Amino acid sequence: AKSRYIAQNAQSKALHEEAVNVLPGGNTRTILHTDPFPIYMKYGKSYQVTSEDGIIYTDLAGEFTAALYGHSNPVILSAINDVLQNVGMNVGATTAQERLFARKICERFQLERMRLTNSGTEANLHALAAARKFTGKRKVVTFSGGYHGAVLTFSGGQPASNNVDIDDWIVVKYNDLDAAKEAIRSPGVAAVLVEGMQGANGCICGTSEFLHGIQEASSEAGVLFILDEVMTSRISEGGLGALRGLKPDLKTFGKYLGGGLAFGAFGGRADVMAAFDPRLSGYISHSGTFNNNTLVTHAGHVGLTTVFTPEVARRFTEVGDSFREKLNEVTKGTRIYFTGIGTVATAHFLAKGPRHIECADDVEEVPELKTLFWFEMLEAGFWVTLRGFIALILETPPSELERFVQAVQSFTSRHQNLVA
Ligand code: PMP
Repeated sequence: AKSRYIAQNAQSKALHEEAVNVLPGGNTRTILHTDPFPIYMKYGKSYQVTSEDGIIYTDLAGEFTAALYGHSNPVILSAINDVLQNVGMNVGATTAQERLFARKICERFQLERMRLTNSGTEANLHALAAARKFTGKRKVVTFSGGYHGAVLTFSGGQPASNNVDIDDWIVVKYNDLDAAKEAIRSPGVAAVLVEGMQGANGCICGTSEFLHGIQEASSEAGVLFILDEVMTSRISEGGLGALRGLKPDLKTFGKYLGGGLAFGAFGGRADVMAAFDPRLSGYISHSGTFNNNTLVTHAGHVGLTTVFTPEVARRFTEVGDSFREKLNEVTKGTRIYFTGIGTVATAHFLAKGPRHIECADDVEEVPELKTLFWFEMLEAGFWVTLRGFIALILETPPSELERFVQAVQSFTSRHQNLVA
């Protein structure tokens, strides 16, 4: 499979060989690094992407959830064109549109106040700053394998970034409520930061008991409960938090909510968010040249109001759930298992053990099988990530999802000796 990959993607290989001379490793997004070289995409249209080698793929990676609207949604494109023609790029001033967009996000995700950023990473950093100011404490409880951004990367429980003071972090096992409670109750804790589903760690869902338990323990301890909805805000009209009946003090956002453009936001309780009110003394300065940029505030707003409406959000999650169920049916009795919720999922290739995962750290996977799966799904015309992550695009026709289910089934029968 690897030699076919090399042969079929000669142009990508040539581009990669040049790229390593200007970009360390040839790229600027570590997650996109693949061996022997990455496939270079030339353009995307609707639910498809076309490579520099001229191969058309059905995009199941969905830009790690940011491409919910697809690559050329007409409503989004028209909003962007309208801005380019009639508004201009960034006017360097407060705009009525940012108020409209903010109001929509507050309504949908049950926030009293919110602010815009340019990425989910920044949203989390600012939410933590607010929590620290509000509580006067510094420590943050978070969960091993969790991902909250490029400067807050945790890998194997270790903060991998020198931008963060390691002493400030208490890293606990995901879905371990007792350990989480103990950490939350320890001295000096400002906030607990958690994903309702650990996305980058393999789409591992937090149990309802775990998430509600964290919420309760935080509230008792005067610790702020911050729910990272960067990947999960698509799971219902109000995100995964609303679906689970959670009431976090703060939520953080990113990905598709900017219409497909660079986006982030955070918000929640008015008294906590007052930390950023420049009318108050001692406020936290939160500037950012592009925070209220005209393209995002228009594209994101039209996306939420006319494309990804509450009804569409509900149906989309049903589509995703039934897709994942079908995938788990055709892989029943094998090592392959799909976790996730709604339209986000990850394929796991389990070395042993039950088809039930509560914490990715406990799971042993077969990396060779994962790589083989990736090569073969690419060959079948599906743009999937090496880590097996899948995020659906609204415009993908059901027949393509069905075709993927068949491709997975045929993979399991072709490699019975490996998957059994
Ligand atoms: N939180 C979660 C849960 C994420 O999945 C990501 C990105 N994959 C981030 C935060 C960071 O967002 P961004 O890449 O926009 O900085």
